Amino acid sequence: MFNTILFGPPGSGKGTQSEKLIEKYGLIHLSTGDLLRKEMKESTPLGIEAKNFIEKGQLVPDEVVIGMISSALDANPHARGFLFDGFPRTVAQAEALDKLLELKKTAINIVLALQVNEEELIKRLVNRAKTSGRLDDADPEIQKKRQDVYKNETLPVSAYYSQFNKVVNVHGEGSIDEIFDALCKEIDAKK
Ligand code: AMP
Repeated sequence: MFNTILFGPPGSGKGTQSEKLIEKYGLIHLSTGDLLRKEMKESTPLGIEAKNFIEKGQLVPDEVVIGMISSALDANPHARGFLFDGFPRTVAQAEALDKLLELKKTAINIVLALQVNEEELIKRLVNRAKTSGRLDDADPEIQKKRQDVYKNETLPVSAYYSQFNKVVNVHGEGSIDEIFDALCKEIDAKK
């Protein structure tokens, strides 16, 4: 099994690159943002709870997203590997993920960290808001909150995996294909 975390701030291109990576490497895509939006759309109890956090730009509680990931891992026992996108977002989530993977006799192989400057991130989110229909993209206050949450709560996840030498920084500006090639090069070097 080959397990990858695609790491980076909101707007860094994780969703776009994930789509290409899962196709090339035959991985299962686990995006907690997508899973939460699906729950919201279906107005499940979990979705209704999550909505309050998402629409304020805050993180959904750890136990909620860890539970979702645990179920998704169980639902795919024959996967060639998983691509985690937007998860883990806190050190507690990273520790829980490591434990869940250990139970399945596997581990994270690589953390690909997309590097994009803040001005470019805001520009991309403003553009994405035009088509995504996402409230959390459209409101500048919420966007700012999400970038702050990223710096305070999510960046430490990169430091956590650095202790195990799993983090590779990848320049996240340029064309979609250029960035994709850079990501593939790093995966191929580890496989
Ligand atoms: P994303 O699509 O990854 O940008 O996620 C959109 C929103 O969903 C985030 O701003 C959070 O409110 C919530 N969310 C997604 N993934 C997580 C996670 N791993 N932990 C907590 N909240 C999350």
